Amino acid sequence: MDDMNIDSLERLALENDLRKALKRREMLVYYQPLVDQSTGQIMSVEALARWQHPNLGMIYPAKFIPIAEETGLILPIGEWVLMTACSQAKAWHDEGFSTLRITVNLSVRQFKQQNFVNTVTRVLQATGLDPRLLELELTEGIVMQNSMDVLATLQELKALGISLSIDDFGIEYSSLSYLKRFPIDTIKIDRSFIRDIAINQDDAAIVTAIIAVAESLKLKVVAEGVENKDQAAFLRELHCNNIQGYLYSRPLAAIDMGLLLQKGTILNIENE
Ligand code: C2E
Ligand code: MG
Ligand code: MG
Repeated sequence: MDDMNIDSLERLALENDLRKALKRREMLVYYQPLVDQSTGQIMSVEALARWQHPNLGMIYPAKFIPIAEETGLILPIGEWVLMTACSQAKAWHDEGFSTLRITVNLSVRQFKQQNFVNTVTRVLQATGLDPRLLELELTEGIVMQNSMDVLATLQELKALGISLSIDDFGIEYSSLSYLKRFPIDTIKIDRSFIRDIAINQDDAAIVTAIIAVAESLKLKVVAEGVENKDQAAFLRELHCNNIQGYLYSRPLAAIDMGLLLQKGTILNIENE
């Protein structure tokens, strides 16, 4: 639902509940695999926040992240997600999935926190996670702030050994210059471009162009929101093999993600 449409009373109630959600252990982290479609191997998992509300059931980020951002609750919630995801990833590494990467979404507000790099350092120390297996997902909104601070923070994060990606690439700004200016490793093409890639020539052209730019800048590319085989086949033709989407798996609770990892490779589920 659009944030603006939420009735203000409902919103106030949600905000109140959100303040207590961490303490009441209602927040969850789900994990969605990123698959190399040429091998079926799970390369990484993305941590996605969920809120298991006692009366309202499962609440998705589109509804609570904007409230969390406005109220500042994104700081404790974001840190909790980071800690939970890193410690889960470390547990999977210890189970033998030693090269599995974990990616965690960041909001502008977290990033702008004075001590953000310290927070990340502390989480890495507390969990024992190898920083080379952690990837932070930034939005174009973060990098487009275009200040020296942003560059400095990104460089400090890179110095820790962490990778950086740009999420929902293409939807906010047309400027590509920041890709060169900032130490970015990966761009994730927004799923709005992927949806009609096999049937709409404009979307196909945009995605083709994004992949070409990424290739020439030596960035990794991930296609988000791949739901069917036609989309996957189109991407394969463009040599884009890093796929995230329902075709392979929806986001899963940690226990189910663990079972999927144990299966080894993952074939797409479209025909099941
Ligand atoms: P995102 O980071 O771009 O994550 C991908 C979203 O697309 C997820 O929605 C995922 O469930 C959904 N998705 C994946 N594959 C498909 C597909 O094939 N088809 C369709 N239709 N959707 C697909 P989700 O989990 O509802 O998260 C929405 C957004 O909320 C995320 O988008 C991210 O921007 C934000 N978010 C989630 N967790 C966190 C968090 O811990 N911190 C912050 N700051 N933002 C978060
Ligand atoms: Mg993301
Ligand atoms: Mg995205």
